[in-house]
Amino acid sequence: MTDVVTAGISLRHGGVSRAPYTSLNLAEHVGDDESAVAANRDMLFQQANLKNLHYCCQIHSASVIDIDNGAGTIPEDPPEADALVSTDRETALGIFTADCVPIFILDHATPAIGIAHAGWRGTFARIAVNTLAQMKASFGTLATNCQIHLGPSIQKCCYTVSTELLDQFAERFGSTVHDGKNLSLQDANLNQLVEAGLPPTSISVSPLCTACRTDLFYSHRAENGRTGRMLSFIQLNAGS
Ligand SMILES: [Zn+2]
Repeated sequence: MTDVVTAGISLRHGGVSRAPYTSLNLAEHVGDDESAVAANRDMLFQQANLKNLHYCCQIHSASVIDIDNGAGTIPEDPPEADALVSTDRETALGIFTADCVPIFILDHATPAIGIAHAGWRGTFARIAVNTLAQMKASFGTLATNCQIHLGPSIQKCCYTVSTELLDQFAERFGSTVHDGKNLSLQDANLNQLVEAGLPPTSISVSPLCTACRTDLFYSHRAENGRTGRMLSFIQLNAGS
């Protein structure tokens, strides 16, 4: 993005977790050794210079939390939601993925940030647009002031779903979101954001497919559900 924010996604290398979580697994809920996850988090937070990390207990919903109301205090039990928004410079926002689409939002003007976890359920429920709507309600964010990135996630090449689901997505987001067999979560998110007023030129999409590239990423589908999670993070830089 720009020097206003620090944002990124971890790869699966360089950590201490053992198979099937090899090796930089950052999520506690997948069955990995807790001390390995803690060590991995310490490494990443130091390298990326992340401050207080807020994350949620992800439930494939379209729920968004504005964390500015308790900023600085990290709840012991993360709240159930799939997106977070903030204007606080002391806070990093994070979501975990292994195929789902991480959506990074920067409102340059305010400045404010958001991050969302969009699998097929969240995408279908328009979590990207909901996150923007929460930023508008909380901070006055305008879509035209935003830059959005859809990070590495499972792409159309590998995402075969039922005909019924393809039809539901086509009805909601347009026939271009599938090829008759496979679904593009990227296009479904892109189309809903453009419909919400984002200029297409303000949205970038990673071409990397997590299921094709298990050398770099965790993939829930390619690894039959037994794998780790990457962390996507975004943080406003001090003085921005
Ligand atoms: Zn692929």
